[in-house]
Amino acid sequence: MSTIRFKALEKSMGRKPLKVKEITARRSDLFGINVFNDEAMLQSMTKEAYQSVKDAISFGKKIDRKVADQIASAMKSWAIQKGATHYTHWFQPLTGATAEKHDAFFETLSDGRAVEKFDGGQLVQQEPDASSFPNGGIRNTFEARGYTAWDPTSPAFIYETTLCIPTIFVAYTGEALDNKTPLLKALQAVDTAATEVAKFFDKKVTKVNATLGWEQEYFLIDSAFSDTRPDIKLAGRTLLGHSSAKGQQLDDHYFGSISDRVMAYMRELEIESLQLGIPVKTRHNEVAPNQFELAPIFEETNLAVDHNSLLMDVMRKVARKHNFKVLMHEKPFAGINGSGKHNNWSLATNTGVNLLSPGKTPMNNLQFLTFFINTIKAVNDYEELLRASIASAGNDHRLGANEAPPAIISVFIGKQLTAVLNELEHVSKGKLTPQEKTDLKLNVVGKIPEILLDNTDRNRTSPFAFTGNKFEFRAVGSNANCANPMMTLNTIVAKQLLDFKARVDGLISEKDMKKDDAIFNVLREYIKQSKNIRFEGDGYSKEWEIEAENRGLSNNKTTPKALKAKLNPESIALFEELNIMSVVEQQARYEIEVEEYVLRIQIESRILGDIARNHIVPTAVRYQNTLIKNVTGIKEVFGVQYEEVAKEQLLLIKKISKHISEINLLIDSMIAERKKANKLTDAEKKAARYCSKVKPYFEKIRYHCDKLEITVDDEIWPLSKYREMLFTR
Ligand code: ADP
Ligand code: MG
Repeated sequence: MSTIRFKALEKSMGRKPLKVKEITARRSDLFGINVFNDEAMLQSMTKEAYQSVKDAISFGKKIDRKVADQIASAMKSWAIQKGATHYTHWFQPLTGATAEKHDAFFETLSDGRAVEKFDGGQLVQQEPDASSFPNGGIRNTFEARGYTAWDPTSPAFIYETTLCIPTIFVAYTGEALDNKTPLLKALQAVDTAATEVAKFFDKKVTKVNATLGWEQEYFLIDSAFSDTRPDIKLAGRTLLGHSSAKGQQLDDHYFGSISDRVMAYMRELEIESLQLGIPVKTRHNEVAPNQFELAPIFEETNLAVDHNSLLMDVMRKVARKHNFKVLMHEKPFAGINGSGKHNNWSLATNTGVNLLSPGKTPMNNLQFLTFFINTIKAVNDYEELLRASIASAGNDHRLGANEAPPAIISVFIGKQLTAVLNELEHVSKGKLTPQEKTDLKLNVVGKIPEILLDNTDRNRTSPFAFTGNKFEFRAVGSNANCANPMMTLNTIVAKQLLDFKARVDGLISEKDMKKDDAIFNVLREYIKQSKNIRFEGDGYSKEWEIEAENRGLSNNKTTPKALKAKLNPESIALFEELNIMSVVEQQARYEIEVEEYVLRIQIESRILGDIARNHIVPTAVRYQNTLIKNVTGIKEVFGVQYEEVAKEQLLLIKKISKHISEINLLIDSMIAERKKANKLTDAEKKAARYCSKVKPYFEKIRYHCDKLEITVDDEIWPLSKYREMLFTR
C-alpha cells in the first residue's frame, strides 16, 4: 500500500471517539442560550426598545435611530457578559455561503483610554469592503460600494466569541447583492397575499408566515482519507475512484446504529446548534454508507434559512475537531446515493392555523383546499422557474439519477386527495344548488380526513410531494442555500394567491355569487388548469420522461439549460410585478450563477487532469516497471519459453500502456476543449460549451483511471479508496 494511504489508514483506525464534554443540562435548557432572543431582549431592554423590535419583526416597522442606540447598548452588554469580544454583520452573499468581517467592540478615546463601544449606527448599517463578492456586474468592483443592514427578524447570536448580527447586503444603488434581500421581499409578498385569502375564512387572520423545515443530508469521512484526495479537498467530491465491492446494496446503513465516533460528532454538533437556537431534532443514518441526516423543528422561513446556513458552518467546524471531513456536495461518490436537502414548506397564520393542514370542519377544509390547490397551480405555472431555483453543477449529478427526483418538476398528492380533486372538478359551473353545496360540503370536502399524515402514501420519486400537512420540495441540493428555492416558491405562491383573490372577488361582485360558490368555481378551474403537473407514478421511469414531454413539462437536465428559465419574460415580469427583484437584479443573478457553473466545471476539469497525470499515470508506470522487471527475470530463467510463462504479465503491461495512452490523449483533448470554451466571452455560451464539450471527458478519463485502480498493486495506489472512505468510522 502507498505510504500516504498506509499512514492515512493507520491514523484513521487509531482514532477514538472524541470525548464530548458531558452536558447534563436538559436540551431545552441549552436552547438559544447564545441567542439575543425574546427572553434576552425582555431582560436587557427598555419596554420601548423591546416593542420597537417586536413591531419590526411582525409588521416590518422601521426602528428609529435613538431606539437603535438603546438596542445596540443592550446587545453589547449581553454579548460582552457572555464573553464576546467582537461583533460582525453576518450576511449571505451570492456565493451561497455566509460572510462576516469581525470588528472589536474595543475603541480608543483621544486621551488614550480604551472603551468598549457599539452603538446604533454600528448595529444598523456597515460598509464591508465587499469588492470581491459576486455582483454580476451591478457594482464596479473597484468602487466596492455595498452596505449591510440589520435584519431584526432574525435574532443576533454569539458564535464562538463574536456577536453575529444577521444583515442584508445591498449596493448603494439599491440592488440586492445577497440571498436574504429577495427572500425577505418574497416572504412579505406571500404574507400579504395569503393573509387576504385566509380572511375569506377567518377575519382574525392578520399575518401569514411561510414555514420551512429543511432536512440536511451529508457524508462524514475521516479527514486522514480526504487529505490524500485532492479532488475531495478542492472540489468537495471524488472525481474518480473504483466502486467498493460492497456499497449500499444491502441497505444495511439506513437507520442503522450510529458508530461511537459519529455519535460523538453528532452530539457535539447538536449541543452547539441548540445553543445557537437551531432547533435540531432528528438524526439518523441515511441510505449510503457514511451518509447521515439532520433535521430541525420547522421555523419561520427567513429564520430557518439563516439557521441552515449557520448549521452548515457549525457542521464543518465541529467535524474538524473530530477529524472528520463533512461532505455536503450533492454527489460525493459515484455509484451510491448523493445528498439532498428536502425543504418542507407550509403557511401558518398568526391565529395558529397551518393552512395546509386539513381541519375539523368543512369550512376549515375548504380553506385547506384553497391553499392546497393554489400551490399546485403555482407550481404548474412556474415549474421551469422552480427547477431553475435549484440548479447547480453539483445538483446536476443528482436530479434524474435514479436516487433523487428527476429534473422534471411534478406534484404528488396521493390517492385520497386525488379523489377529492376529481370530485371537485365536476362541480357544475356558476352558482351551486343548495343540494349540490350540501353534498359537496358533507361528502367531498367534509370527508377529507382530519389527519392525513398517517395515510398519505409516500412517493419518494416525486420532487414536490404533499405529505399530509406540508409540501416537501425534495429536489433542493444538499449544498444549496435554501434562500433561492424558498424565495422562488413563496413568490410564485404569492402571485397565485393574488390572482385567486382577484378572481373570487370578481365573481362575487360581477356575477353576484356567494363567497363559497365563487371559491368552488375558481378552484374547479384551477384543478382543470393544473392537471399536467400532477403525477402519482414512478418519477424515475423512462415512461414518465416520455409522458412529461407529451404534457409539455420541462425536463432541463443541466444547469445551463435550467437557468435559462430565469430570463423568460414571464419570470422577469413576475419578480418585477411583486417587487421582489428588478430586471437588473435578475440578470445579475443569472450571470453569477452561469459563471459559477463554468468555474466549478473548470476547476473539476483541472483537478481531474492533474490527479490523472500526477498520481495515476506515474503509479501505473511504476507498477508496469515492476512487471517488466518480472518479465525480464522470467526470460532469464525460461529463455525462449518466457512468452508462454509470462503471458499474463505481458498482457497486463500492454493493458496498462493502453490506459495510460488513453488518459493522456483524453486529457489533451479536454484541455483543448477548455481553451476553446475559455475564448468565448458570452457567459451563457461558455457555460453551454463547458457542459457539452468539457464535462463529458470526466467520465471517459475516470473510466481508465478506475480500471488502473483495480489493475495496479494495491500497495502503491496513492489515493484513498472508496471502501476505505466509506466503511471506516
Ligand atoms: P419525514 O417523514 O419527511 O421525516 P416529518 O414529519 O418528520 O417527515 O417532517 C420532516 C420535516 O418537516 C421536519 O424538518 C419538520 O420540521 C418539517 N415540518 C413539519 N411540519 C411542517 C410545517 N408545517 N412547515 C414546514 N415544515 C414542517
Ligand atoms: Mg423528508
